[in-house]
Amino acid sequence: MLSTMQDVPLLISRILEHGSSIHGASQVITWTGDGEPARRSYAEIGVRAAQLAHALREDLGIEGDDRVATLMWNNAEHVEAYFAIPSMGAVLHTLNLRLPAEQLVWIANHAADRVVIVNGLLLPLLAPLLPHLATVEHVVVAGPGDRSLLDGARARVHEYEELVAGKPTAYEWPELDERSAAAMCYTSGTTGDPKGVVYSHRSIYLHSMQVNMAQSMGLTDQDTTLVVVPQFHVNAWGLPHATFMTGVNMLMPDRFLQPAPLAQMIEQERPTHAAAVPTIWQGLLAELNAHSRDVSSLTQVTIGGSACPPSLMEAFDKLGMRVCHAWGMTETSPLGTIARPPAHAVGTEEEFAYRCTQGRFPAGVEARLTGPGGERLPWDGESAGELEVRGSWIAGAYYGGQGAELLRPADKFSEDGWLKTGDVGIISPDGYLTLTDRAKDVIKSGGEWISSVELENALMAHPDVAEAAVVAVPDDKWGERPLATVVLKEGSTTDFAGLRTFLAEEGRIAKWQLPERWTVIESVPKTSVGKFDKKVLRRQYAEGELDVTQL
Ligand code: ADP
Repeated sequence: MLSTMQDVPLLISRILEHGSSIHGASQVITWTGDGEPARRSYAEIGVRAAQLAHALREDLGIEGDDRVATLMWNNAEHVEAYFAIPSMGAVLHTLNLRLPAEQLVWIANHAADRVVIVNGLLLPLLAPLLPHLATVEHVVVAGPGDRSLLDGARARVHEYEELVAGKPTAYEWPELDERSAAAMCYTSGTTGDPKGVVYSHRSIYLHSMQVNMAQSMGLTDQDTTLVVVPQFHVNAWGLPHATFMTGVNMLMPDRFLQPAPLAQMIEQERPTHAAAVPTIWQGLLAELNAHSRDVSSLTQVTIGGSACPPSLMEAFDKLGMRVCHAWGMTETSPLGTIARPPAHAVGTEEEFAYRCTQGRFPAGVEARLTGPGGERLPWDGESAGELEVRGSWIAGAYYGGQGAELLRPADKFSEDGWLKTGDVGIISPDGYLTLTDRAKDVIKSGGEWISSVELENALMAHPDVAEAAVVAVPDDKWGERPLATVVLKEGSTTDFAGLRTFLAEEGRIAKWQLPERWTVIESVPKTSVGKFDKKVLRRQYAEGELDVTQL
């Protein structure tokens, strides 16, 4: 029997229409650095998205599933592009402005971008790449910046504001197939070549509803969210779409991502929620310790992208900012798990431990653990295996580059279509995931696994340690052993032996897992999205660039 329900496609244009009418008064607030942010209502964003779509179609000839790329910070124009491009049926491709030039070129050519919308201040980055971007016909420049950098460019250059000015204020958004491509994002390549993930209207719509659930971020129109996570990092974790469903105001930092302006914008604009990777929060914490600010509005902080050290969570709890830890990937849109503690643990000693896990799987994400021999492992909170996931907002393939050609590499997809995450962990009987490592980062010492993340968390709990990263290095006797690289706080008096004793104290780390090799570094190298770049550390060690002490 067929259902009797209407079959209304889940489209980005519907999220836009809803947000710009029902929540028309909500705002996108873009930080400008001069203390007076630019405020634009959702109603205005709706009008300008329609105007941008007209310009893309009528002036630039965008049609079908043409790719329109953005090379932009988080700001109102980027939100307009987020809605205009997919709503008209084209594909939004967010370019990661922190990638090395050759990767950006490779990605833009692979996606066959026809247009790049760029923030003017990023022209020094784009201009030298343009001659290598074979498919780019138009560059649209938004905001301040030196346009003369584009003199002589083969692509046609347009002003964003001139393009949208005077265009009709409404657009008849097409009734698309909800499974068609809406946006694409390449993995940041922490562990390999970038791979293109293509989100559908349907996947984004369903993911946005999940982001909005009380057991996820659970924000309402009484909230303002500070979107620190870049719009080029997995759609800013779904926030721009989710907020247009619920009318949450968005505070956009633009290029002002340093701790001092972030602290200033929190004090001035009083967001209630913020989302970013741990590195950003470490920086903000140091800033708040040095210069006190009124950050009392900010009561909810979503941290993900890499493991949130428990010490960071505690420090934020003390400031009245409650951290909610979450796990995800480019391939999972990204929300895969979120660590809201279960009712029975709230107010008990167990609560903190639950909050430190990567979190619980929502209804839309199925999970299983696979052992080294391909066997299924139980959810017993002890058996560690590779996490595999499946669901409506989980990738089932990568973009191949030739029309509809898709790639399903065997190391990333199981034969029955599950995504192999490359993350190793355990799952408790009540569905909480604890990641112990990335498959590629785990330290295999004498046939046993040592979790680099566990060592890092324990080290970062030491009062003199600002940051710590642990990588596997070759060892004649054990195959691999951990190398501890630590960033010490100013004025620290501790030495390696002291740190090692600290790790061993109170059973923090088992004796056989304690690192023998130690080095002090100035800062942990970071990837384009602010994660520890262990590839760099491993290379530096291999090439003898690190001054290693053996205990
Ligand atoms: P890349 O794979 O290039 O780093 P992604 O942003 O897609 O790009 O990264 C996804 C990976 O980030 C996950 O597979 C996982 O290893 C790591 N990750 C994300 N969130 C967390 C978290 N809360 N704890 C630990 N690791 C995390």
